Amino acid sequence: TAEHTLIDEMGIRRALTRIAHEILEKNKGVENCTLIGIRTRGIYLAKRVAERILEIEGVPIPVGEIDITSYRDDRIKVKSVENVQEGGKLQIQDRKIILFDDVLYTGRTVRAAMDALIDLGRPQMIQLAVLVDRGHRELPIRPDYVGKNVPTSKSESIEVLLTEIDDKDEVIILRG
Ligand code: 5GP
Ligand code: MG
Repeated sequence: TAEHTLIDEMGIRRALTRIAHEILEKNKGVENCTLIGIRTRGIYLAKRVAERILEIEGVPIPVGEIDITSYRDDRIKVKSVENVQEGGKLQIQDRKIILFDDVLYTGRTVRAAMDALIDLGRPQMIQLAVLVDRGHRELPIRPDYVGKNVPTSKSESIEVLLTEIDDKDEVIILRG
């Protein structure tokens, strides 16, 4: 299996800084915004972007997590969205939610996450940020913020390494 680096450590840092600026620009600040990371790596991406926004704008932004593992094609019930900074539950009703995931592929995970969120309340709006968009959508879902667009074949896969849980920051493509 051949592999090569798609985004290195500096590239990840720059992409997340750019996304932080894009979120601020698109929303004219971050008033009423909440970042929600999907499963494992989406949570770290959301936390990093919240740190950037705090540095740039001086405004704290709530960060939550949603775990939809193994529920992707079912209607899932999520009891609440946990605040990963301070504990407790996050409000969904009337908030601008920005969902974060590491890789966007068919779109089914994001759909399941949106369903779960909407069951908890009526968000004012939901936006989507991903580090890598690898194509092959099966649903009409597109990201608002993208680290890198990477056209892939279905036999290829993307490996996302983040220092919070891996030994480094790097995005690699594995050619099957
Ligand atoms: P989808 O639901 O859009 O088909 O797939 C997206 C979800 O599966 C994301 O949560 C993402 O973490 C994971 N995923 C799909 N394809 C890949 C891939 O090539 N690499 C990685 N790291 N995750 C993927
Ligand atoms: Mg995932």
